[in-house]
Amino acid sequence: MELRDLSDHVEYRAGRGIEEVARELGRDPEEFVKLSSNENPHGPSPKAEAAIRDAASEVHRYPKAVHSDLTDALASKWGVTGEQVWVANGGDGALDYVARAMLDPGDRVLVPTPGFTYYGMSARFHHGDVAEYDIRVAPGTDDSEDFALTADTVLDAYDGERVVYLTSPHNPTGDRFTLDAVERVGDETDDDTLVVVDEAYGEFTDAPSAVSLLDERDDVAVLRTFSKAYGLAGIRLGYAVTPSAWADAYARVQTPFAASAIACRAGLAALEDDEHVDQTVETVAWSRQYVHDELDARTYESHANFVLVEVGDATAVAEAAKRAGVLLRDCSSFGLPEHVRVTCGTREETKRAVEVLTEVLDEVVAE
Ligand SMILES: *Cc1c(COP(=O)(O)O)cnc(C)c1O
Repeated sequence: MELRDLSDHVEYRAGRGIEEVARELGRDPEEFVKLSSNENPHGPSPKAEAAIRDAASEVHRYPKAVHSDLTDALASKWGVTGEQVWVANGGDGALDYVARAMLDPGDRVLVPTPGFTYYGMSARFHHGDVAEYDIRVAPGTDDSEDFALTADTVLDAYDGERVVYLTSPHNPTGDRFTLDAVERVGDETDDDTLVVVDEAYGEFTDAPSAVSLLDERDDVAVLRTFSKAYGLAGIRLGYAVTPSAWADAYARVQTPFAASAIACRAGLAALEDDEHVDQTVETVAWSRQYVHDELDARTYESHANFVLVEVGDATAVAEAAKRAGVLLRDCSSFGLPEHVRVTCGTREETKRAVEVLTEVLDEVVAE
């Protein structure tokens, strides 16, 4: 028996955990800090943690009411209707629902490179094809930046794709699209092209959300997640805010009980915990600035909870930092072999990361 042709499909490579790395190196997990997966430095919201415990006694029941409660809370947070909120198993799950609702076999999508791998994976699962727009500014171009998240970058590559993905703030550069750029992409693409604005890092930027565009547009959907600012990556909870014209499409494409009772309870509690999100955003802002100011390497302005750093040989630097106890993301897999991505940690973690990176960069240069 043959599987379908999976030769174009790629594996998602998540940042490795502390336990795994410690075991590989035969060391104590306590010696490591993990700044490779853009996780929350303060852990989960304490209110969400309590809600998770409380939810334990109800997990024999299918999560129906709690799913509606979460949908209603999100709808009211964003000023949209409940039908527009597509709750899912992580932001990734929401990307799948959008692909299910949009793609016929052979439809093409347009994704950023370097960029988040799951857009292309999700499109391929749903029998779509993937085209890329390159956000790197061509060498020699008269531009002081290396990356350009602009409408022109996207539109120059656009060729009638069914879905265009914009990550804002963008992973792994930390750069963002302006709302004007999002609107221009919407205006200058075909009527049946959807613009998905991925705001997984939306809480860390002062720019307004693209959800505001949904009052007037039916060609934009916005992705949000509880994994980053809310510190609930392990619970797998995210959602898309979709055009009002899509009405009952969610009911037709969702996996029954798209998010678990535990996830819904945790999400509801986290939405009430402004203190935790505020503290997270404040720490991240401090950490970003510290890395910019203190690290003697080229850093890029970031609107997210990480900073991209140009280091030369990213694999060698990430390996050396790992041996020194700091896990960073080698961006080679994103197609950036000279960059590492440093997640914003607590003050202590950030200082340690900068110290270790400084030493490692000295050593690598000295070699
Ligand atoms: C983290 C992330 C997501 C969503 O992740 P989930 O954990 O599935 O919610 C989506 N897009 C980007 C660019 C991300 O970095």
